[in-house]
Amino acid sequence: CGIVGYIGHREAYPIIINGLKRLEYRGYDSAGLVLSTGTDFELVKTKGKVSDLEDKSANLDKTPHLGIGHTRWATHGVPNDVNSHPHMSNNGRLVLVHNGIIENYEAIKQLLIEKGYVFHSDTDTEVLVNFIQLFQEEQNLNLTDAVRLALNEVVGAYAIAVLDKEQSNTIVVGRLGSPLAIGIGENEFFVASDASPFIEFTKDAVYLEDGDMATITLDKEVDVRTIKNNETVSLDIQELQL
Ligand code: GLU
Repeated sequence: CGIVGYIGHREAYPIIINGLKRLEYRGYDSAGLVLSTGTDFELVKTKGKVSDLEDKSANLDKTPHLGIGHTRWATHGVPNDVNSHPHMSNNGRLVLVHNGIIENYEAIKQLLIEKGYVFHSDTDTEVLVNFIQLFQEEQNLNLTDAVRLALNEVVGAYAIAVLDKEQSNTIVVGRLGSPLAIGIGENEFFVASDASPFIEFTKDAVYLEDGDMATITLDKEVDVRTIKNNETVSLDIQELQL
């Protein structure tokens, strides 16, 4: 299971596909990706290998400069196309990839169903993306605050990356118990479960600490803060060794 994401001046698609291939050693049963055109999401996912994902992506518009991808190791729901990541929220505004387990997903799912949410997959992950939508809608929050409040209610282990259609220059990531690295280039950023997907593009990396989240916005500094207390964390940029 692995996560790759990109925002910058290059085409995101090859970075995501090649990055997922580098993370193949982590083991997986399904793969998927989403590209953001700025106004829409192009989402492709499939049970099987990254090469199957490539086949399925043949007709995709590959010009977008923003996207996230995922290899899944199924924990909740069998390996199939629908349970593969990314997962989209009910209103179509958010897409999310997740490594790990949301232990209290059943209680959150029940709450969401009572509020009228519908679920297409059997995953804990689809619960989380809709939970973030709930915070966004009920409290009129930006992506970062909605993710933070949702993660504060979550019990489990995760590394996540989220895109919001209404903030198309941003990737929000967070982690607790699963690894996540951010690559910092010139006017471009990478996210990945380890640095191997981006080491050819930049040597500057931030390894997110457990319990931290980051808002990665084009033309801005990466904003890292604690999920629990919303305290700013200073950027600890490390130089990767070859
Ligand atoms: N729990 C999630 C699922 O079953 C994520 C699994 C993973 O780490 O890939 O879909």
